[in-house]
Amino acid sequence: MEHLSPEEAMKGQFEPVEPGFTWGKTWEYCWFRGKVVLPAEAEGKRIVMDLRPDGESTLFVNGQEFGTYRASWVTQKHHFIEDNVLSTAAAAGTEYEILMETYAGHYYPESPNGGCATGPVLPGAYQDPLEEGKRRTLGVCTFGIWNEDAYQLWMDADTLKQVLDKLDPNSLRAAKIAEALETFTLAVDFEQDEAGRIASYRAGREALKPALEAKNGSTTPVFYAVGNAHIDLAWLWPMAETHRKTERTFAAQLRLLEEYPEYKYIQSQPAAYEMCRKYYPELFQRIKEAVKDGKWIAEGAMWVEPDTNMASGEALIRQLLYGKKYYKEEFGVDSQMLWLPDTFGYTAALPQILKSCGVKYLVTQKIFWSYNEGEQFPYHYFYWEGMDGSKITSFLPTSYTYRTDPSELIGVWENRSQKRDLDAFLLPFGYGDGGGGPARDYLEYAKREKDLEGCPKVKQENPITFFKDMEAEGGPKHTYTGELYFSAHRGTYTSQAMVKQNNRRCELSMRELELWSTLAALKGKAYPAEAVERLWKEVLLHQFHDILPGSSIARVYQEAEKAFHAILDESHELTEEALQSLTEGENGITVGNSLGFAYETVLELPESFAAGAKTKEGKEIPTEKIGDKVYGLAELPAYGMVSLVPAEEQTKAEDEVVLTQVGETYVLENRQVKAVVDGKGEVISFVLKTSGREFAAEPLNRFHLYKDVPRLFDAWDIDSNYKEQEITAAEDVKVSVLQAGSLRSVLKVTGRISNSSFVQYIRLDAESTRLEFETVIDWKELHRLLKVAFPVRVFAENGINEMQFGYVERPTRRSRTYDKDRFEVCNHRYSALCDGAHGAAVLNDCKYGISMNENALELTLLRAAAAPEMHADNREHHFTYAFNAWEGSFADSDVVRQGYELNVKPVVTNGTADAFSLFDVEKNNVILESVKLAEDGSGDLILRLYESRKAAVQTALSTSLPVAKAWSCTMLEEKEEELMVENHSISLDFRAFEIKTLRLKLA
Ligand SMILES: [Zn+2]
Repeated sequence: MEHLSPEEAMKGQFEPVEPGFTWGKTWEYCWFRGKVVLPAEAEGKRIVMDLRPDGESTLFVNGQEFGTYRASWVTQKHHFIEDNVLSTAAAAGTEYEILMETYAGHYYPESPNGGCATGPVLPGAYQDPLEEGKRRTLGVCTFGIWNEDAYQLWMDADTLKQVLDKLDPNSLRAAKIAEALETFTLAVDFEQDEAGRIASYRAGREALKPALEAKNGSTTPVFYAVGNAHIDLAWLWPMAETHRKTERTFAAQLRLLEEYPEYKYIQSQPAAYEMCRKYYPELFQRIKEAVKDGKWIAEGAMWVEPDTNMASGEALIRQLLYGKKYYKEEFGVDSQMLWLPDTFGYTAALPQILKSCGVKYLVTQKIFWSYNEGEQFPYHYFYWEGMDGSKITSFLPTSYTYRTDPSELIGVWENRSQKRDLDAFLLPFGYGDGGGGPARDYLEYAKREKDLEGCPKVKQENPITFFKDMEAEGGPKHTYTGELYFSAHRGTYTSQAMVKQNNRRCELSMRELELWSTLAALKGKAYPAEAVERLWKEVLLHQFHDILPGSSIARVYQEAEKAFHAILDESHELTEEALQSLTEGENGITVGNSLGFAYETVLELPESFAAGAKTKEGKEIPTEKIGDKVYGLAELPAYGMVSLVPAEEQTKAEDEVVLTQVGETYVLENRQVKAVVDGKGEVISFVLKTSGREFAAEPLNRFHLYKDVPRLFDAWDIDSNYKEQEITAAEDVKVSVLQAGSLRSVLKVTGRISNSSFVQYIRLDAESTRLEFETVIDWKELHRLLKVAFPVRVFAENGINEMQFGYVERPTRRSRTYDKDRFEVCNHRYSALCDGAHGAAVLNDCKYGISMNENALELTLLRAAAAPEMHADNREHHFTYAFNAWEGSFADSDVVRQGYELNVKPVVTNGTADAFSLFDVEKNNVILESVKLAEDGSGDLILRLYESRKAAVQTALSTSLPVAKAWSCTMLEEKEEELMVENHSISLDFRAFEIKTLRLKLA
């Protein structure tokens, strides 16, 4: 899809066409041009265009971005602007050169009730009704003189009529409005010549005036209204369409801002502004001017409006870091409000992150959606308290596409869920999803509702002013603690597994890139700051709330997959360059550990280590050759490196894995655990040898397949009744020994699940308590949900799900509505069940959905939705999950570290270096998550640490680096407090789940 600028397009060959001209293949654009010369009778009048291009169009008038005409098809509900005012006071003889880029569109099934079908669409149920090459038919494009008197009269009459409809019919106000409306109908006379007609319209308006001027009493709610256009950066359209949507929306809104001085428009998402800047630079300059004038509100804090269930904690911080930086640099705005109306749930880590990033307010609305009998959210205006106790002032309207007419406002007020302690309401109005924003009518209604008896008062304001006014009135009186769980769209933790896996890989790859580049920079190599920022922004873009959740059309994922590969390729290459600058010579290899703790792990080594291996410092390490593979068991230093060189002699490990076959079963054991796998590939026993305790209540690692046809929103939802629709899962299962080594033993399981074949490698390493299940499945299903269950001998009413910088607890029983809502939840690297004495966890390397049913952890592996992408997820998938158990409380467990170990693999490069450990954290519940160079180019190091187990602790961070000064700082890296550095160590006091950002200046 070529993207031409209007200048380039004008250079093309244009041919005359008539109405009825047909054109267009899927994804194509066609440029039309035309000319308007205003006739004498246009003088002084308002001139409007009536263009019928038959597709969403990007309009340019006299070379300038102008906005759009109309949208149809998938964007019907999302983008419809009726009037295109060419001039409000025309001069006869003026010429307008009109250029229009029209989109031919792509097929997307419409629901039988109109609008886009988000429910199940079976093959053949709907067919593309349009013929390729002839998708669009040009209609008559013309212009005309607008009858402003008639329009104003209509707006007056309709406003009053709508108020009347909502009033108590016995009230005096109702009688007065009825009287005024009657007088107006008597005054208006259509059967006259134009002048007479207009005079009668004016008389009609006079008749309505007293009713429009009647004021409210002293207890009328105030609606702070702000125009907005929700722009899904990709959804039912590809991102290339979104580039154009920015023009269509932004240019049209600028024209409205010009005409209505009291109008205020808010636009979020720097990523959308960037599209506009890149493709429509002149328009972007005009937006900057409007921001300066205070009309256009550039706010929203984050780079995009992301999913906040699955994005990592560090990614959420970067959304704010790069988002806020953009608002500051481009618009001079210190963004203070997270504008996140449409995201499918809000992590309890957000309040702390927002606070530390200087964001004071949150606006969202989505969690009022509870169409599947979910519990209604109780507040609009409240403090939202996160997992660490941080609080953020929040306002939740119930929509981001409100209209402004009286029936809408009165309805919003009547249906509010918080009846008390709420005198005002924030009203984001305007068409949205595919952009659009308010049409002119919205502003005409608002003008009449400043103080109109019987209707809430409308004040067009910046939402920041709303929050400040509310604070002046005393602030929120209610607090809601914990995540803002979304009682819908639970399938989005699983749909489009490719995007979930790549998102996690990219987040981790950026982590490696930053750490090793920081180290290389300390040795004098240039830090790739430009690439880091550019790559991060690509990662952040793909965390958009319809991309990462898996709710977009197929093309979005084809393009996303390419983008992910490009991010991974470049970040790996840059990481390798950094690693190379840290090692020398050809003899041996160097293993880097980016985790903030030391641990022992089995590594695959090159063939040159077949005889044996030792560290560069001479310590022998156990190795073993199994088949054509050489394994070594190495101890990796925390945040450091160790080099291995070949040795002459093989050393034995202290701990050895033993794999034995006993009849139909296989026993995998090392000195810590003993697991028994049966002929079906299920783990019928898992014992911790230290205590002798059995953890399997029933076979672990059992696949469950369900019919999965949600009532609505195919890719989005899992309905709770999936449980009642189980289908036979694994069949034709065969188990064999793939490898029986003393460092690593592996069983190979093959089989079939419905139409899909799978291979699983069940693996146990020396010195590990983790039983890993590496799984390859060729998924060929429709409307199926695959889970793997681990029923354990643990009683826990609440399970633990890792999320950003900590965990949340959610119910395993279904007593209350609250519990029933949480039948499927989001987790990051682990979920656990535990009592005070022992526990078990299921870990994963890319799966975000899980259910916790009584004593079972049931990881959701795959779905197969039929909309918006038919045959979503039908491809080969390759992922790993693991099982782990421990004695003691959760706070005593090492699950958090196990989760890291499963996900973060050591980096290996050629050449050697002296072993070192950069950092060490004394208490192991504090995790050093990220190390990077400061954004300000000072060369300072930025470290991010967090308390991971809800256990406040005093600890020390020690480092081998020559630290001259240290500060605690905000997540935006601004210094807060200087910290004492003694003997290379900094003492730190953590609250439960506290995140700390440190800045280190090296000597
Ligand atoms: Zn959206």
